[in-house]
Amino acid sequence: MLVFTKIKSLQQKLGSLKKEVSVGFVPTMGALHKGHLSLVEQAKRENDVVVVSIFVNPTQFDKKEDLENYPNTLNEDLTMLKEAFCDIVFTPTAKEIYANEVKSQSFSFDGLENRMEGKFRSGHFDGVGTIVKRFFEIVNPTRAYFGEKDFQQLQIIKKMVTMHALPVKIIGCPIFREEDGLAMSSRNLRLTKEHRQAAPFIYEILQQAKVKFGTNNVTTVIEWVKSEFKKQPLLILEYFEIANENTLEPVKVKMSGQKLRAFIAVFAGEIRLIDNISL
Ligand code: AMP
Repeated sequence: MLVFTKIKSLQQKLGSLKKEVSVGFVPTMGALHKGHLSLVEQAKRENDVVVVSIFVNPTQFDKKEDLENYPNTLNEDLTMLKEAFCDIVFTPTAKEIYANEVKSQSFSFDGLENRMEGKFRSGHFDGVGTIVKRFFEIVNPTRAYFGEKDFQQLQIIKKMVTMHALPVKIIGCPIFREEDGLAMSSRNLRLTKEHRQAAPFIYEILQQAKVKFGTNNVTTVIEWVKSEFKKQPLLILEYFEIANENTLEPVKVKMSGQKLRAFIAVFAGEIRLIDNISL
């Protein structure tokens, strides 16, 4: 496994590959877990060469403390990637990527950026768009892999690729969970013992909401979820929405033929957790 910190040396290596070699790319912020590895494994199955980036992107954090406290486990990450037969790791510094101007480009994603996470994390998707576009330009991958864990991000990247006619295929990968159902996340490492014990409730409620949605209307399900969270002293609901998978617009009434998904964001103490489920 080769590890690069400089754009130039990464590009020299990628440039030396034959034209027909397919490159699978998995962008991450490190503190890797089995969810990330499931993306790497899928990329490995579908491409000749796999590139994983580890870069905690400063422009996508709306809160300074969140950026400062983001876990860094680089040595463990590299061991895990080696064991998953990753070919190339790219771990640049912020200076290498942004030079002297750590700033986002401003994007429009057809309104997708204004929903859910966009409402609560100002500037987040401009930061995501900026870094992913930059990485696509550097790596020039055949396929890029994103988790459904961040479903809104996945849809936004797909939109960016279409709107900017970028030559890459975006592949969405299923959510990987702990045994108790909690969606794997680098942020789980920062939960207190009590909050970690409480957190599986998030996926339990999503599953129950899915069942309830079979026989109840949208408002009833939303109100039920809100009332269930009021009984949970350790978990504070930020939003629960039922939305169209493609437009991410919240739905008010059920109509047949729509692809719908429930989305949730919850604070477990200081730590913000997100999850979603197809309905
Ligand atoms: P992050 O390091 O959190 O930016 O995540 C890097 C990529 O891994 C993103 O495409 C995430 O959606 C994906 N990812 C993170 N957690 C999971 C998970 N539990 N299951 C599947 N994909 C995930």
